[in-house]
Amino acid sequence: KETLDKGLEKSKTSFFGKLNKAVAGKSKVDEDVLDNLEEILVSSDVGVNTTLKIIDRIEARVAQDKYLGTSELNQILREEIAGLLSETNSGEDTEFVIPKDKKPYVLMVVGVNGVGKTTTIGKLAYQFKKQGLKVVLGAADTFRAAAIEQLQVWADRVDVPMIRQNMGSDPASVAFDSVKAGVDQDADVIIIDTAGRLHNKINLMNELSKVKRVMQKVIDDAPHDVLLVLDGSTGQNAFEQAKQFTAATEVTSLAVTKLDGTAKGGVVIGISDQFKIPVKYIGVGEGLEDLQVFNKIEFVDSFFK
Ligand code: GDP
Repeated sequence: KETLDKGLEKSKTSFFGKLNKAVAGKSKVDEDVLDNLEEILVSSDVGVNTTLKIIDRIEARVAQDKYLGTSELNQILREEIAGLLSETNSGEDTEFVIPKDKKPYVLMVVGVNGVGKTTTIGKLAYQFKKQGLKVVLGAADTFRAAAIEQLQVWADRVDVPMIRQNMGSDPASVAFDSVKAGVDQDADVIIIDTAGRLHNKINLMNELSKVKRVMQKVIDDAPHDVLLVLDGSTGQNAFEQAKQFTAATEVTSLAVTKLDGTAKGGVVIGISDQFKIPVKYIGVGEGLEDLQVFNKIEFVDSFFK
């Protein structure tokens, strides 16, 4: 909770600084306040479509209540944003729970370099292990030697086995070995890192589908989750990457990192709404404990407190 509060601090300060200015001297939510609010939401990287949706909902409440005081605006925003997040994020979990019939659970992680993919995998491995789960990592980002080495550092730090081959080897082959090793070692969770080269869309698509296909030779419904990691501090870039990856493969959940480093945490709301994919994790710092299972209620509570 404290980590979340701290992680959202920059976004909160920026948002409420602007909002307070927009309602200064006004007792009632009027056109002017709504126009300003719209601008503030867009500048917080909520995205235009999602912003318009939120404004529409608040307008409807203004119309319904006839008079809406600016002092109530905070509460109403919190309700409407929680409502919006509920459309995509159904769960209110605080811990990841593996479905009983999906062991080992295969988690395939996608995303471009630099977004915090390796760190997120390391943090996930740490958390799963802390929950008493047996974890195997697979270094299927074979495009860069550094990617394999960086993941190895995390595997060593968290003390979980990692399956690897040489740089340049076939990612699908590493994925196959990893899933196989996970089954043989009676693992609970297998986390597969993948290469995130976006410059060639067809290659990316082919590579990811081959990785999936090969996993399914071992576990026929694998991967159980395809987690796209996005850097929350990159705003429109994160939206663009989400667009490209969802076009290349079926993404089933999102991790939004580096929220602690940005004043534009609204990206979490916009992305989950635009792509109708649940945000499962948020990164709010560089430490092992700084990856949180996304809980929409805690998120809005922390933000609108
Ligand atoms: P990758 O290339 O996508 O695998 O990215 P890395 O996992 O190597 O992360 C890139 C940088 O972002 C590293 O310096 C991480 O420590 C940092 N990072 C990752 N997640 C977070 C986060 O939630 N908050 C902050 N402040 N930094 C993060």
